[in-house]
Amino acid sequence: MKRNAHRAAFAVLAVVALALLGACSHSMHAQRHHDAHHAAVPKNIIILFGDGAASTQWELGRYTSRELRNRPFAVTDVVLKQGTLGLLTTYSADSAVTDSAAAATAMSTGYKTNNDMAGVTPDGKPVRTVMEAAKARGKRVGLVTTATVHDASPTAFSVHAKSRRESQAIVDQFLAFEPDVLMGGGRDYFLPKGKGGGMRSDGLDVMAAFGAKGYDVVQAPSALAAAAGPRLLALFADDDMDHEIDRDPAREPSPAEMATAALRVLSANSPNGFVLFLENENIDTSGHRNDAAALVRDLWAFDDAVQVALEFQRRVPDTLIIVTGDHETGGLSWTYAQKDLSSMSSSNRFYPGRAHLDLLMAIRGSLEKASDALGKKPTAEVLDAVIAKQFPGYVLDADLRALILSGKTIERNVSYLPHGLLGRMVARQTGFYWGTSGHTTEPAVVGAIGPGESAFRGYMDNTDFSRALHRLIDGR
Ligand SMILES: [Zn+2]
Repeated sequence: MKRNAHRAAFAVLAVVALALLGACSHSMHAQRHHDAHHAAVPKNIIILFGDGAASTQWELGRYTSRELRNRPFAVTDVVLKQGTLGLLTTYSADSAVTDSAAAATAMSTGYKTNNDMAGVTPDGKPVRTVMEAAKARGKRVGLVTTATVHDASPTAFSVHAKSRRESQAIVDQFLAFEPDVLMGGGRDYFLPKGKGGGMRSDGLDVMAAFGAKGYDVVQAPSALAAAAGPRLLALFADDDMDHEIDRDPAREPSPAEMATAALRVLSANSPNGFVLFLENENIDTSGHRNDAAALVRDLWAFDDAVQVALEFQRRVPDTLIIVTGDHETGGLSWTYAQKDLSSMSSSNRFYPGRAHLDLLMAIRGSLEKASDALGKKPTAEVLDAVIAKQFPGYVLDADLRALILSGKTIERNVSYLPHGLLGRMVARQTGFYWGTSGHTTEPAVVGAIGPGESAFRGYMDNTDFSRALHRLIDGR
């Protein structure tokens, strides 16, 4: 209870501090740039979307990037500091706690909808998405994600589904909508059952159908770099793409490599410009699984894609870059704790720092990888072997050990198992405590830099984000 009260107090402080920082950095920024730059309408818009990222995650990316890589973090150090900063409330039509479908619908269409619904109002009516608006203005459009391309966010930014789980119907809509670039995981609903990892019930090969429409269809990073045509379908996994900490670069490209390819394809022959949506879903997935070690690498991988976008903007200045997220995932608080329960004295307390980061970074793979190694019902021997191999320097306390072996959870809102229990083991030794397996109500952060950036200033609702975006796309 006390810890939760502290956590809430810290969250409020963080939000207030961010808002103040935004006000300061903006006034400095305004002195450095022409007002016309703020009012202008961009030709190109790049939306870099950290699913599950709010100020907590961006600060973790900034701190770890400086401490462990000796490098600035572009999200905070360039986009948020030098651009325009806003905060987005995220509640959905039917819950204080949004899911990704409702959040992306609000940010894309300007309408609040129920959790699970994408690009439609609560009564199921389709409403105009960002990519539909962009196409109507003759812009080229791209959807890129580390999730399945038919996942909630890319769906809500482009097409319409009463449920985000209507994967086959969503892919059918993509084939009709013809985004110029469609890239990520989710090969499953492009292929019929019986062909590779195909899940389609109608026997259709939609990858071949895209090819027949003139798309380059690629499935490997090497082919991605070579794709030279005007339109691109790139699918690298049957379902979600891997966390950065597990990624095999020969099988799956990084978000930065995907950004490079998408920008190359979209910017060629684009007299009216383009709108690119690029998402790192693995930030959200790390949060759901309470996986701090995976999260740090996923944040860095996202930031590398932001760097690619900023380099593009230096060459093509009439480009607006927007960095945002849809909601916070996991209720992450990096905090202090007692080293053990033998004494509550302050001499038995640790304040996290470099040594705890080093212990975190020693973990060899994601909690999902550990879960796979454990299997459905691990024996004590298998459990000990996995901890020794993947978590050097960690001790699994008896309570967590018993829960993992019995397949039980520690709290009602810890629903990813054994991930949440392994995450608690990591927390006890590094201070990376998670409040939940789910989403939270922490406002999302939006940073914008480039022509039109001032439209995203201040404390807004996520539907206001959509209105600003549509105004810029429509040239108003
Ligand atoms: Zn999520």
